[in-house]
Amino acid sequence: MHECPLCKNELLRVEVDATGDALIARPCACRVPCALCGNRGFTFEPDASGYSVAKPCSCEGLRGRARLFSEAHLPARYLEATLEGFKPAPFQRPAHHAAYVFAREYVDGRRGLLFYGNCGTGKTHLGVAILRHLVARRGIRARFVEFKHLIAELREAFSGVDGRASSLVRSLVEVPVLLVDELGKGARREWEQDVLDELISRRYNARRTTLFTTNYPVGGSEPAGETLEARIGVRIQSRLDEMCDKVVLNGEDMRRRAGRNP
Ligand SMILES: [Zn+2]
Ligand SMILES: [Zn+2]
Repeated sequence: MHECPLCKNELLRVEVDATGDALIARPCACRVPCALCGNRGFTFEPDASGYSVAKPCSCEGLRGRARLFSEAHLPARYLEATLEGFKPAPFQRPAHHAAYVFAREYVDGRRGLLFYGNCGTGKTHLGVAILRHLVARRGIRARFVEFKHLIAELREAFSGVDGRASSLVRSLVEVPVLLVDELGKGARREWEQDVLDELISRRYNARRTTLFTTNYPVGGSEPAGETLEARIGVRIQSRLDEMCDKVVLNGEDMRRRAGRNP
């Protein structure tokens, strides 16, 4: 199959938004103008009694995916992060495979993934690449959120005006796939575990899929150092054990190698 050099057959052109923080997308030039509808967004088809009726064109789906992409809040520094573009070192192959299988086979309510391991091993890259695949190639709604920002937002939401609180929390509970990056990072505060537990429990009860990355060791046989459980508490850790398959990424810090899998 011929590959579009602009979008690599993703059908969306991805770029950094005006703020410089997040990625946005629009339908690729290889699909514009639409040969089916001339960019009207709908086509005419005969109904059962032979009358011509307007039907949304398949290119509307592509515009919808571009919107979903922009709503996913993927961080700008992962502009090039795709599953296809990830060139795994030997220690990254099992995790890359797990990410691929997840992205292709995801169905509503599937167990999530918890990527853990030392810094610079590609955890966030793979997490973002999964979301990108789900949104751009499958039209599934997903959302990226950094743990530190999540906690700050949840606190504001829970302590602020009711309307804002409920709409933010609702959107984080309702998105089918949520990626929480850098779980456990930052200064710990007593209210932190409560708001996190609230969100995770609600997603768990609603059978939503949640992905996590963390630099903290997970499980008993890991090297010394503060564990994820010590950071987030026993209750949340045991919830994660029920919700997620663990994917380890321990190895060389790839950021030290110029230009590879940041
Ligand atoms: Zn294209
Ligand atoms: Zn069309």
